Amino acid sequence: MKFVVLDTSDTLDTYDTLTTMIRFENVTKQYPTGNTALEDISFTIDRGEFVFVIGPSGSGKTTLFRLLINDEMPSSGSIFIGDWDLTNLPKKKIPVLRKNIGVVFQDLKLLRDRTIYENIMFPLEVGDIDSHEARERVDGIIERVGISEHRDKFPIQLSGGELQRAAIARALAFSPEIILADEPTGNLDNATSWEIIKLLQDINESGTTILMATHNADIVNSLRNRTLILEKGKLTKDQASKHKKPEHKEHKE
Ligand code: ADP
Ligand code: MG
Repeated sequence: MKFVVLDTSDTLDTYDTLTTMIRFENVTKQYPTGNTALEDISFTIDRGEFVFVIGPSGSGKTTLFRLLINDEMPSSGSIFIGDWDLTNLPKKKIPVLRKNIGVVFQDLKLLRDRTIYENIMFPLEVGDIDSHEARERVDGIIERVGISEHRDKFPIQLSGGELQRAAIARALAFSPEIILADEPTGNLDNATSWEIIKLLQDINESGTTILMATHNADIVNSLRNRTLILEKGKLTKDQASKHKKPEHKEHKE
């Protein structure tokens, strides 16, 4: 098994295409309350994959994401991100891990008293990036996700789809290796959902590995990406991608 090598520096080199990015080995997560959120989960995701995680509410999707960013520790089993073993990760590496994983939270977590531009800049302010470079980076990201005309507005002034784009933009701040998107189309109409998916596909095509939790059967059935199915904390199915070549061209717009 060849793992992607994570670096402690801020800029990441390009890696080989088919190396392991995420690996769960017999992972069980039991919360202190006694709930078993995940039970004996094992899977491997290669660099550059776009994987759906589906399953009813309460099946463990968000818990899986929280384990990936070291927000929670597994009760047993091992988790690897690149060549890093999260169950033995030195504390000083956690900020670097989080730079490598951009998260689009289910509830977005945008700050209401900051503009869209300031929200996207926020993670960079706590890093040690030069402010001129940070501004250039944020300008580029805002352009890339298509919300330039909304940059100086506050979250309350944006539509659901625009807010989702802003949350994706913030997740891109450190050019992460991995994006986790937790039900990013949950509150959107069908057309807007597809626009968000197209944005995520663009990001994936530039090499970023994506895991997306979703309830959207239309999207899952149309795209036929690899799909992990969770039921009551168990991985009941790991369905391989059924892309025809060329990839990502199956859905109608
Ligand atoms: P999903 O995202 O698929 O809806 P979650 O990962 O949020 O599922 O939840 C999986 C299970 O773990 C549920 O039974 C939920 O009640 C429980 N759970 C989630 N977070 C916590 C927590 N912080 N403390 C205790 N139980 C939790
Ligand atoms: Mg959830």
